[in-house]
Amino acid sequence: MPRTLDPQLKRALAERVRFYHELGIYDFYRRETAEPGVSENNEAISPQPEQREEMTQSARAVTTVVVEEDLFAAPKPEASVTDPANALRLIREDLGDCTRCRLHKQGRKQIVFGVGNPEAELMFIGEAPGADEDEQGEPFVGRAGQLLNNMIKAMGIRREDVYIANIIKCRPPSNRTPERDECDTCSPFLMRQIAAIKPKVIVALGAVAAKTLLAINAPMSELRNHWYDFRGTRLAVTYHPAFLLRDPRQKKEAWKDLQMVMQELGMPAPGKTPES
Ligand code: URA
Repeated sequence: MPRTLDPQLKRALAERVRFYHELGIYDFYRRETAEPGVSENNEAISPQPEQREEMTQSARAVTTVVVEEDLFAAPKPEASVTDPANALRLIREDLGDCTRCRLHKQGRKQIVFGVGNPEAELMFIGEAPGADEDEQGEPFVGRAGQLLNNMIKAMGIRREDVYIANIIKCRPPSNRTPERDECDTCSPFLMRQIAAIKPKVIVALGAVAAKTLLAINAPMSELRNHWYDFRGTRLAVTYHPAFLLRDPRQKKEAWKDLQMVMQELGMPAPGKTPES
C-alpha cells in the first residue's frame, strides 16, 4: 500500500513538475538508484542511517506520487488530438514566444518551428536555423536549404511532401554550434513534433542532429550507413547540406544514404547525384 506523502514534499514535487511542464517536458522516468553501499566507481560506502531513511523515503515518494496523484502523467496539450496538423498547432502554441534558454536574448529574430507536410512519411532534421532561416522563420531556406531542396527533388519528391525541422528552433549567435543545454531544453518540442507527424523515416542531417537524437558520440563515418530505431521510427544519418557545400565530393556518399532511405520507403530510385 502506498504511504501518504509529506505535504511539504508533495508541494515541492508538484512545483518541480509544473516547472518541467513549462519547459515543455512531459515524460518522466524513474532512474534506478545505485546499489546501496556501492559508489559509482565501485568503492564500498556506508550511508548514515538518516541518509538511508532519506533514500528510502524519496524512492517511495516517486511511486506514491505516480500511484496516488498521477502528478507525472499530466497530458501534453496535443495528447488527445489525432489530426497531426492540429497537434502541431498545439505544440507551436505551447512553445509560445519561447524564453526557455539563453538564445531568446542573443539576437534571434524569430522561432523557426518547422515546415512541411504534417503527415509526411519522411522527416529531415537539421541542427539550428541560420541567418536566412531566422529572417524568414522557415528551416533550410538559405544556400544549404537550396541543396537540401535539390536532394529532395533528386529523390523524386517535393519539399512540400516532407517535414523539415531542426534540433533547436532559434539561431545561435554567429551560427555557433548549439550548446548541450540548448539542445536539451528545445528538443522535447521536436520529440513532440515527431510524435505528432509519425514519419516512417527520419533523416538526421549532420553530426549535431545525429548525436543529439541518438545520444551517441561517434564520427559521421561511423554514424552513416546504418538504420537506427528511434522510438519506433527508422532513422538514418547523412551529411549536413552545409558540409556538402564545403566538400562537394561527399555528395556521392550522401546520395547513397538517400538511396537507402528511398529503398526503405519503397520509392523508385532515379539514380542521379543531386546538383549543387
Ligand atoms: N542549417 C540547419 O541545420 N538548419 C537550417 O534550418 C538551416 C541551416
